[in-house]
Amino acid sequence: MSSKMTPQFLAALTQIGQPYQLHEPLAQHTTFRLGGPAQIWLAAQSVTALVQAVQLAREYAVSFFILGGGANLLISDNGFAGLVIQNRTSRVQFPEINAASSSVTLTVDSGVILPNLARRCAKRGLAGLEWAAGVPGTIGGAVVNNAGAYGSDIAHDLLRAELLSPTGERVWQAADWFEYRYRWSRLKGQASHETAWVVLQAELQLAVAPVAEVEQRLADFNTRRKASQPPGATIGSMFKNPPGDYAGRLIEAVGLKGYRYGQAQISPIHANFFQNLGRATATEVYHLITTAQQAVAQKFNIQLELEVEVIGE
Ligand SMILES: Cc1cc2nc3c(=O)[nH]c(=O)nc-3n(C[C@H](O)[C@H](O)[C@H](O)COP(=O)(O)OP(=O)(O)OC[C@H]3O[C@@H](n4cnc5c(N)ncnc54)[C@H](O)[C@@H]3O)c2cc1C
Repeated sequence: MSSKMTPQFLAALTQIGQPYQLHEPLAQHTTFRLGGPAQIWLAAQSVTALVQAVQLAREYAVSFFILGGGANLLISDNGFAGLVIQNRTSRVQFPEINAASSSVTLTVDSGVILPNLARRCAKRGLAGLEWAAGVPGTIGGAVVNNAGAYGSDIAHDLLRAELLSPTGERVWQAADWFEYRYRWSRLKGQASHETAWVVLQAELQLAVAPVAEVEQRLADFNTRRKASQPPGATIGSMFKNPPGDYAGRLIEAVGLKGYRYGQAQISPIHANFFQNLGRATATEVYHLITTAQQAVAQKFNIQLELEVEVIGE
């Protein structure tokens, strides 16, 4: 245990009344299926519990981070020495749709799973999130990363979001506060999770459209994704695309498409996707990352930057 994680802290954490585990393997909670244990893992099932867990960690000066769907995280084999707060909040407030509505406002907890929400919206004839049907993770992760696909993104749908501030206030911020850019917001890669803003809820504006039309668009996006994206355990795009080029093209051009190290592999289908073949370690993935970075730098004088976030050493 870290020096800060005292019996008093554990007792206070238990009082929140949410499921928690000591030494929980984080591999079970990431799409990459790798990552060592969390010293403590707690699943926050309500916004109140999420706020309480963050406040407690701050009060007791315990390191923590918020885990959404784990779809953008490379977690060290040593795991995380502190508290991992898994966001399992799940409330969706669907509005009444009447004949005169052309758009509606939807309020969702930040732990809602984005592709599930996209499908539920399509079934109700709510248009705007079809791009998200194949984008794993939570609303909170999407708000932080400005997740998007096929020319749209969460910035396009977001009206405002409720946040827990670094000093513990709950505040609603309009979409322009996030300073959205391509796959980026001012919350992305916050220097320290201890002083970070935490996304609690989001308000989305969606258009009202015929159900068949929305479902067809969603199905089309899914078909396109299945045709281009490797199956199995991945974390999506490993590197950012450098200006005017594609990371996948560069990695392929240096002959590393399909390159395997231990149980980790640069996908033979799409070179910016790395795969866990079953029992890969973060160390093996890190070897692939540095191999690709060095080869691309040597041949093209381009430094590939990680799109994914690395947690731990
Ligand atoms: C197969 C696959 C395909 C993908 N395709 C796409 C794609 O097409 N487009 C795209 O944009 N992305 C894509 N991704 C990446 C991923 O889906 C997004 O980055 C997603 O938004 C991550 O959300 P998450 O909830 O999993 O965040 P996590 O990976 O759990 O966390 C990422 C970061 O956000 C922080 N965070 C999470 N929730 C909160 C919160 N409530 N408050 C504050 N901070 C928070 C975490 O602390 C961490 O720093 C893909 C990933 C995979 C595995």
